[in-house]
Amino acid sequence: MTHRVTLIPGDGIGPEIAAATCRVLDASGVAFEWETVEAGQAAIEQYGKPLPDHVLESVRRNRVAIKGPITTPVGAGFRSVNVSLRQALDLYANLRPARSMKGLDTRYEDVDLVIVRENTEDLYAGIEHMVGRDAAESIKIITRYASERIARFAFDYAVANGRRMVTAVHKANIMKLSDGLFLESCRTVAAEYEGRVEFQDRIVDNMCMQLVQKPELYDVLVLPNLYGDIVSDLCAGLVGGLGVAPGANIGTEAAVFEPVHGSAPKYAGLDRANPTAMILSGALMLRHLGYPEQATRLERAVREIIAEGRATTYDMGGSTGTAGFADAVIDRLGAAPAIR
Ligand code: NAD
Repeated sequence: MTHRVTLIPGDGIGPEIAAATCRVLDASGVAFEWETVEAGQAAIEQYGKPLPDHVLESVRRNRVAIKGPITTPVGAGFRSVNVSLRQALDLYANLRPARSMKGLDTRYEDVDLVIVRENTEDLYAGIEHMVGRDAAESIKIITRYASERIARFAFDYAVANGRRMVTAVHKANIMKLSDGLFLESCRTVAAEYEGRVEFQDRIVDNMCMQLVQKPELYDVLVLPNLYGDIVSDLCAGLVGGLGVAPGANIGTEAAVFEPVHGSAPKYAGLDRANPTAMILSGALMLRHLGYPEQATRLERAVREIIAEGRATTYDMGGSTGTAGFADAVIDRLGAAPAIR
């Protein structure tokens, strides 16, 4: 069976890491047909807007997409394409595993965390306005519906993947209504999983310190949108940086797989960026499509190449380029028997 998947190459380093990822996925033993559509800068040049309707239609039709990072102007300009895509397709769960890899120079060797970030509301609802000339207001939206839905996703993920504990992260001591509702919703859902998955909560500032000091105490974290965004970069830093941190945006109608990192404009077009995060996002996509063996085989190939340290990119301590790293992974996949 050939899977038709929407491919959004993105901006900056996006097209290079996307090309590397597609080559690796084509060597995974699963057949893909890539439907390439442009969003971001390339779409503005071609269609006059960063997220044309046909991009959303393509993802809706194929139900699965893989995307590179897209640049968002800071302080002014168009709204984030990434946020718009997640909201338009109701991709409510942002799943970001952070797992240590041998061969990377990090402070810890045994980090194995999974970040579950609410993806549709909070301060990312995009409701902000000026109050006169010298004040600005952003509205933080937290609903019981979205909070219970993301908590349920985190607990279901824990059950399906044999994880022992879910930690809800919040600032309910200060934002008693909004974060209070998030925490209350997590507690309600946690009660349904009692005896199967442990539950605890942490205030977000303390959580950050604890993750830096003793990440091994934590397992699955569930967070509202903004804390999830920040804490997932922190966790990426624990396991080797943004170049190795994969992600998935999952909804009921579609799923979009993308690295945690951005478009790293200073490395665009130089064949230097690390494609690992997007390749591992591709492994998450394989698992989503029902190919767990192929996903594990791909993850193992990536981990072996990094552990051996012979074909790694600059951020992993090596001097191999984006395409060269992908070649090494493809060679390794070829050497192992294909699982079909
Ligand atoms: P960034 O992730 O692009 O870069 C942060 C640092 O990590 C930089 O030093 C960069 O060179 C490095 N880095 C990132 N990815 C790397 C890779 N694959 N290999 C090697 N090094 C890598 O973050 P930023 O600089 O804050 O953002 C740049 C742009 O990306 C902004 O416009 C931002 O809005 C956008 N962004 C997009 C997404 C997305 O598309 N989902 C996510 C985050 C940021």
